[in-house]
Amino acid sequence: MGSGPGPGDLANQRVKALALLDEADEVCLACHVRPDADALGSMLAVAHALRAPGRRPQRVVASFGDEPFEVPEILRFLPGLSLLSPPDAYPHRPELMVTFDAGSIDRLGILAGHASRADQLIVVDHHVSNTRFGTVNLIDPGAAATAMLALDLIDAAGAGLTRDIASGLYAGLVADTGSFKYSATTPAVHQAAARLLGTGIEPGTVARELWDRAPFGYLGLLSAVLGRAVLEPAAAAGHGLVWTSVSHADRSMHGLSLDAVESVIDVVRRTDEAEVAIVLKQSDDGLWQASARSKGRVDVGRACSSLGGGGHRNAAGVTLAGSAEDAIARLRGRLAESS
Ligand code: MN
Repeated sequence: MGSGPGPGDLANQRVKALALLDEADEVCLACHVRPDADALGSMLAVAHALRAPGRRPQRVVASFGDEPFEVPEILRFLPGLSLLSPPDAYPHRPELMVTFDAGSIDRLGILAGHASRADQLIVVDHHVSNTRFGTVNLIDPGAAATAMLALDLIDAAGAGLTRDIASGLYAGLVADTGSFKYSATTPAVHQAAARLLGTGIEPGTVARELWDRAPFGYLGLLSAVLGRAVLEPAAAAGHGLVWTSVSHADRSMHGLSLDAVESVIDVVRRTDEAEVAIVLKQSDDGLWQASARSKGRVDVGRACSSLGGGGHRNAAGVTLAGSAEDAIARLRGRLAESS
């Protein structure tokens, strides 16, 4: 690559992406495994835009590489789930593939091979750790969400905003900015949100679906896992760590899926005495999915990346094997070096 990434490069890459999207007979979309609202919402928004009336008819395939293929329950309110197909129906060698919110090719799960075989690969992402694995890279680490980059692409393609397009993008923006609370919430984010709301979508519905609902069993689980939270003031180079774990047994006792306990971190991270918060969630296969959050002085993205995970400075994750104590010990070691 001749010139390094920068604003000019981004505009240049967008022109290339548009040309590829216009020419392709079939466009294959993919987002990262265990998709969040930004990944799935951005992908569905672009799927809707590609199928808009007035565009040349193209086949549009949209999927993610999870086996079994299941849309996380809290995202089932997004319009366009019927546009999704399971990864085993994905073209073996896509002519044009577009990925959303995936910082590296392995984040595509079983669609990683398809991405490596694709003739052209457009990577749409905002992770600072992105490995630039595309033939075209629409990557802006300064963007609050992949949804911002997807909106740019949809605008540049001349597609008008519909409610279906806006719903996915708005969900991505709300999720990745923590309801417009985090520091990446720039004026441009609010301007984008205003345009999306202008289509008539209902912000209260998105907020309730993403944040403000849970089955009754969640209360019992919260009570148990918050009650065993540990505060370690000396950890993270003296900045403080608070952590807890949600075992498989906790989840089955309260009848909760892994997705349903995603928001435990949002309670734990409030702790004043700790810069870093971690929740270890045990998946059905026994591995620990660690969610890490920082208030800014500690780079949890670096700590998680060094253990094979990824994310941003203030929000990151990694999958670890062994006991919960083993997992937290490994993270504790990396956090000591990441501030
Ligand atoms: Mn994102």
